[in-house]
Amino acid sequence: MTSKGPRIGIMGGTFDPVHYGHLVTAEGARCEYKLDQVLFLPSGKPPHKSMKRVSDAEHRYMMTVLAILTNPHFGVSRLDIDREGFSYTIDALRRLRAEYGPDAELFFITGADAILEINQWKDSDEYLDIAHFIAAARPGFCLEELPQATQDWVGQHGDRFHVLNVPAMAISSTEIRERVRTGKSIRYLVPESVEHYIKRNNLYL
Ligand code: NAP
Repeated sequence: MTSKGPRIGIMGGTFDPVHYGHLVTAEGARCEYKLDQVLFLPSGKPPHKSMKRVSDAEHRYMMTVLAILTNPHFGVSRLDIDREGFSYTIDALRRLRAEYGPDAELFFITGADAILEINQWKDSDEYLDIAHFIAAARPGFCLEELPQATQDWVGQHGDRFHVLNVPAMAISSTEIRERVRTGKSIRYLVPESVEHYIKRNNLYL
């Protein structure tokens, strides 16, 4: 696994809120794929969530910054949240490719459940030309669980699509929001700094 330029992980997600499952995934990908850096990319206006309530992008960005502070290999990008309109992953990947140059090896990391309809994403044919894809999944996940159209998409450049088993995938942002709403503890599911931020800003109540 050698490359001429830097190996950059791009951790795509809504991060509403960011939690230990995301952090373990990013660190797992960093070690497994020998990444120099993992850049968290909170989405600004997710195109597939236009009807759903998503917390303000600045809150999601701030929580992500707090969560990654102690890892020198992690960073956070404002690329999507500072952008007008919907956050299409292909636009971010094109910008990052231009920024890091042709020699960089890019790895887009996200949840396996987030890519179920990836064949319908904007300009989906181009993704695997620009970056490797790492789908984070619970142990035991197999590609056959994906819809046939997604499997066909993976088949286009199978060598650039990877599955990363992450036991901590059981933690979910949905469950954390629900726990806050119903007054349950979220300690040890999110970093303490994120827990304080949620409380201080009355998020998810
Ligand atoms: P989602 O559909 O809300 O998430 C589906 C599942 O994947 C959830 O269980 C989620 O857990 C998990 N997940 C999401 N991101 C993850 C990550 N980085 N690491 C591990 N698990 C993750 O997903 P989303 O957050 O909205 O979108 C994920 C990425 O796909 C984003 O970068 C988004 O921009 C991109 N996307 C792009 C398009 C497009 O360009 N047309 C369309 C859809 C998605 P949590 O809820 O706990 O995170």
